[in-house]
Amino acid sequence: MIPLRLKTSGLPLDEPLVVRLRSDVEHANQHEACLVSTAEGIAEFDFHGFSFALEVEDVRSIDGDVVMFLPEGRSVHRLIRANSKHNTLLITEQCDQLCLMCSQPPKKHHVDLFDQFAAAVKLAPPDATIGISGGEPLLHKTRLLNMMTECLQERSDIKFHVLTNGQHLSESDLPILSNSLFRRVLWGVPLYSEDAATHDLIVGKSGAYERLCNNLAILGQAGSYLELRTVLMQENVEKLLNLASFISKDISFASVWAVMQMENIGFARKNWSKQFYDNSLDFNPISSAMDLLLASGVEVALYNFPRCTIPSKYRDYSHQAISDWKQKFLPQCSDCTDQRKCGGFFEWYPENHGFENIYPN
Ligand code: SF4
Repeated sequence: MIPLRLKTSGLPLDEPLVVRLRSDVEHANQHEACLVSTAEGIAEFDFHGFSFALEVEDVRSIDGDVVMFLPEGRSVHRLIRANSKHNTLLITEQCDQLCLMCSQPPKKHHVDLFDQFAAAVKLAPPDATIGISGGEPLLHKTRLLNMMTECLQERSDIKFHVLTNGQHLSESDLPILSNSLFRRVLWGVPLYSEDAATHDLIVGKSGAYERLCNNLAILGQAGSYLELRTVLMQENVEKLLNLASFISKDISFASVWAVMQMENIGFARKNWSKQFYDNSLDFNPISSAMDLLLASGVEVALYNFPRCTIPSKYRDYSHQAISDWKQKFLPQCSDCTDQRKCGGFFEWYPENHGFENIYPN
């Protein structure tokens, strides 16, 4: 796995600090730490006269990365990796839902790092799309929207992709959501069923469906870009066609409907045998729903599906959605001519009780 933290000798700090790592010393600016030397897996940097060491095998792999030091911390967080398209800021681990397949079960405690996140986004490489995730990031809505506004104003090239449960919007947010700056934001919002009871059961919160539908209407009114996200599970697979029909009639302003395979971690690991749906055995519930939505003009995307588990007619809807740092391939993938187009598997994918039919092309 690609490490998201690196061991460091640290810096004398009272509060968190965000810097960009730079090997090109001549053109470094005030926010950048300059590479001084490398030897035996240790890279020495200088930041305004203070030196620090990072443990890294290949210093080229971190050139341009934006990292965060914490006071007393013995590791730096690689907030934005310069060579990756999968940079996501974890805004909070708090959440007001308790989804059956949550890959990152919520915690009570919240650490406010918005100032550091804003500094990091401003140092991101050109044209970056920055993921915003949690927990539920909109539990800290005012701080988050202010941080996004500040970054969108300062960096006209960057975009955000916000993953939110859609529970915390209100009509009073319409002015900011409608602002032209927010045309560079894609809202990724989960909807698991057109049936309120099934959606509420999956997210572990009564009344969630009703609130979500109201808030999706607010996003529609604001002209927001919406990515509806549906994780495929035994609980909703049989009614996927009903969900597609509902979206085509009532949420047709959605930019895309993403159907997602489960990630075997967090609560999903515990419930895997009851919830995982093996689409390599039967793709029909998915293809019928896709056909309906495609016919009504809504774009469809498949996330986290190994390419060979999808019938050839639908393969080009699959995206390489698994973040590079947690992606792996199986031994049989090494002979596959499709590997370049395939998103592969999560690092923690259970090979002994996963997809039945994996075959190299
Ligand atoms: S064999 Fe591996 S690389 Fe090829 S399509 Fe299947 S999962 Fe992807």
